[in-house]
Amino acid sequence: MSVNYAAGLSPYADKGVCGLPETFNSPEELKVKVETLAQLIKESQYLVVHSGAGISTSAGIPDFRGPKGVWTLEEKGESPHFDTTFEDARPSLTHMALLGLQRAGYLKYLISQNVDGLHVRSGFPRDMLSELHGNMFVEECEKCGRQYVREKVIGVMGLKPTGRYCDVVRSRGLRACRGKLISTILDWEDALPDRDLNKADDASRRADLALTLGTSMQIKPSGDLPLLTKRRGGKLVIVNLQPTKHDKHAHLRIHGYVDDVMKQLMELLGLDIPKWEGPTVCESSTATSESNNDVKPPHAVTAKEKVKKDLVKEERKREASELTGDGSIKEETLSVKRERVDSPEVISEEK
Ligand SMILES: [Zn+2]
Repeated sequence: MSVNYAAGLSPYADKGVCGLPETFNSPEELKVKVETLAQLIKESQYLVVHSGAGISTSAGIPDFRGPKGVWTLEEKGESPHFDTTFEDARPSLTHMALLGLQRAGYLKYLISQNVDGLHVRSGFPRDMLSELHGNMFVEECEKCGRQYVREKVIGVMGLKPTGRYCDVVRSRGLRACRGKLISTILDWEDALPDRDLNKADDASRRADLALTLGTSMQIKPSGDLPLLTKRRGGKLVIVNLQPTKHDKHAHLRIHGYVDDVMKQLMELLGLDIPKWEGPTVCESSTATSESNNDVKPPHAVTAKEKVKKDLVKEERKREASELTGDGSIKEETLSVKRERVDSPEVISEEK
């Protein structure tokens, strides 16, 4: 299926300001600014990242309001250029760096407006991620809320039925839910998904540092969430080439390619950027929370990965004991390659 997501939406008049000129910091300026960002991240207790289409352009997926964005070109009567399909798109350096930041314990929550599914396919834990505008690879049961992450794009948009049905069977239940599955992609007038929005709202209020990557923050309410952090005394750092709606609220503005910024940042923090080894879905950042009876294929842990996981655990323990004086944090990142989502208990709990 083509990646022309925009063509699947209803026509809508007000698409915000498009095609504003891009600004680039000099390499020296960029270096100094990223050093400041690294320091802010080290000092932060609760970092939340807000990502927009600008982090996927290097993966071959056009943004919306950049010089070659979908809406910018639409205004000129032109069509955007796609270098890939959603299925073939690989997470960018930025996607993988965010996973690295999460594993190292710095990144506490990720809020995305992107529908390309790259955060989920990068293996970023879904319980630490809000996808406010939906995901091309996810369909949801309108009856019980169970989400299914597929290997191919759903092919339907605007919260419409996909033609498939929910096959959840409760642990003691005898028959499947059979609810209609619907697309999770929002059309212009659709309300944001409650669960994701509430979690994003909570995280934004709790955060002491909000970092926005590749978004002009023009879409509400997603674009206004970083302001909640600011309002609570936190800091806002904006990484974007074009001006954004909230530039005046920023503690620091970085005008550079997000991949360049994240690469330098990870070096300064002494962190590796995880390698992508194909689409990986990670349901939960904690392995201890649920006694789930559903079949979970065990993840083949290579020796190298095992070492890495242990390092991450050590890092988290250290962080926890620094914060609370108590090293008893039980966390393990599950990285399971599979198609189905198997956590109905989690879903019903959060409702
Ligand atoms: Zn269901």
